[in-house]
Amino acid sequence: MPEKVFVFDTTLRDGEQSPGCSMNLEEKLEMARQLDRLGVDILEAGFPVASEGDSEAVKAIAAEIRRPIVAALARANQLDIDRAWAAVKEAARPRIHTFLATSDIHLEHKLHKTRDEVLKQIGWAVGYARSFCDNVEFSPEDAGRTDRSYLIECCHAAVEAGAVVLNLPDTVGYCMEPEYQQMFADVQARVPGMDRVMLSTHTHDDLGMAVANTLAGIRGGARQVECTINGIGERAGNAALEEVVMALYVRRDVFPAFTDIRTEELFASSQLLTRLTGMAVQRNKAIVGRNAFAHEAGIHQDGVLKKAITYEIITPQTIGMPSNQIVLGKHSGRHALSKRYEELGYQLTKPELERAYELFSRLADHKKNVYDEDLIAIVNEGFEHIPEMFTLKLFQTVSSSEGRSTATVELEKDGEVFHDSATAEGPCDAAFRAIDRIVGVPGTIVDFSVHTVGPGTDGVAEVTIRARFEGREFTGKSTSHNVVEAAARAYLQAANKAAYELKRAAESATARSGSVHSNEMVDRFFPGGY
Ligand SMILES: [Zn+2]
Repeated sequence: MPEKVFVFDTTLRDGEQSPGCSMNLEEKLEMARQLDRLGVDILEAGFPVASEGDSEAVKAIAAEIRRPIVAALARANQLDIDRAWAAVKEAARPRIHTFLATSDIHLEHKLHKTRDEVLKQIGWAVGYARSFCDNVEFSPEDAGRTDRSYLIECCHAAVEAGAVVLNLPDTVGYCMEPEYQQMFADVQARVPGMDRVMLSTHTHDDLGMAVANTLAGIRGGARQVECTINGIGERAGNAALEEVVMALYVRRDVFPAFTDIRTEELFASSQLLTRLTGMAVQRNKAIVGRNAFAHEAGIHQDGVLKKAITYEIITPQTIGMPSNQIVLGKHSGRHALSKRYEELGYQLTKPELERAYELFSRLADHKKNVYDEDLIAIVNEGFEHIPEMFTLKLFQTVSSSEGRSTATVELEKDGEVFHDSATAEGPCDAAFRAIDRIVGVPGTIVDFSVHTVGPGTDGVAEVTIRARFEGREFTGKSTSHNVVEAAARAYLQAANKAAYELKRAAESATARSGSVHSNEMVDRFFPGGY
C-alpha cells in the first residue's frame, strides 16, 4: 500500500527570510490562503521571536487558516518557545518546531558548547515545548554534517522528551543522495521509540541537490517533506514543493508514496508568490517555468501535436497552467473575462473584476489578441492589498539623443492633484525623480527588471522594481505597452507600499511608547498625525 507523505510548507518561514522575498502581513495571509487551497498538510507560518511583524503574521494565520497544522519556529530556549507558543496557540492544530545545531562545526564555532551541553538542552527544550503543545517537532540543525552516533543520541533525547516529528536538515546543502538516505535509515533503525515518530526531510539547493535529496530521504523512511513554493529559501533555496510533488506523482511507479497536494493549484501558487515578492522564476524552471511546456523544436512540436506523451511527461492542465491559446479580444465581456479568470485559478471579487475589466479593455484597444499571460499580468498589476495613496493621473516624457530626459507626472491623492517634472539621464530616472518631488522622500532603485509578457511583438512590458525608502526595501510591479510608464507605475506602487508600512510601524511604535513618531516620510503622507 502506498503511504502518504506529509507536505510541510515553509515558504512563509525559510522562504520568506531569504533576500528579496519578504512579505507584509496581508501578503503572508494571501499566500497562506493559497497554500491552504493547495492542500499542504503543515504550514510553517514564521519565526515569531524574529520580529513583531513575524509574530503578528503567525497569529493572523493561526487564527484564519484552520485546516492544516500551523507551525511556528523557535530556537531551543525559553524566550523563543514562549513567543512561538504565544503566536501559534490559537491555531486549530498548533505545532512548535524547535531546533538546535548538532554538528561539531556549529557547536565549536557558533554555539561554543560541548556535545553534553547541547544534548541536555535538546531534552530540556523539547520537554518545555511539550508542556504547552502535544505537537512538537525537533530539528538537529546541520544534521547532514553531524557525527552519526551523536546524531542518534540527540534524536533519542528529543524523542524521549516527547518530540513527535524528527526533522533531519541538510542545512547547508552538502549531502549526496546515498548519504542523506542512509541517515534516515540509521535514525529509524537505531533510535528507540521511532514507531511513534515521523521523520522529515529539509534540504537546501547549494549543490542543486535539494529535490533529489528530499526524494532520497523518502526512500530512507521520511514521511514529511519540508519545502517551499518556487524553491525560495536561504542562499540557493529549499527543495521546490512543486518539483517534489510532481516527481512523486509522475513516478508513482517507483515511489510507494503519495501526497494530498492538489496539483492543479501548483501553477497558481507559483504565480501568486511571484506576484507578492516580485521574484520571478527562471523560464526553464522545472514544472512552473514559462518554458516548461513550450516546445520550440519543430520535431518536438510535431510529436506533441500527434500525441502529447511523446515529449510531455506532465500535461499543463495537471499543474493548472493555462494553455497558451488566444482567448479574448476587445469584444469579450465581463462574464467571459470572469470565467477565464476562474479557469486560471483566480477568484476575483466584484470590485477586482471591475478593475480587471477596465485594464483588460484598455489593453484590448491596443492589441488584437489578449493572451492568458496578459490576463495574469493585469491581475498582478492591480491587486496589491496596499491602499493606493497617490495614483498616477498623467505621465509624459521627452528624451533626446543628447542624453537628457524630462518627465512630467501628475499624481492624485484624496482628490487633490499634484504635478511636477524633473530632468535626468534617462526617461525612467526622470520619472522617478518627478515622483520623488511630489511624494517628498526619494527612493533608491535596488533592482529593476523588464520582461515582455505573451508571445508576439504586441506583448506588454512587465516592469518589477525594488526600491529603498528610509532604509527599507519595497517592490512594485506594473505592466504597460510603454516601458517607461510601467516603470513609473511600478515605482509609485513601491512608494505607496513604503508609506503604508512606515505608517503601520509608526503606529505600533506610538502604541508602545505613547510618543508621537516623527518621520519625514510619514509626515509627508499623513500630515497632521494619526
Ligand atoms: Zn532551511
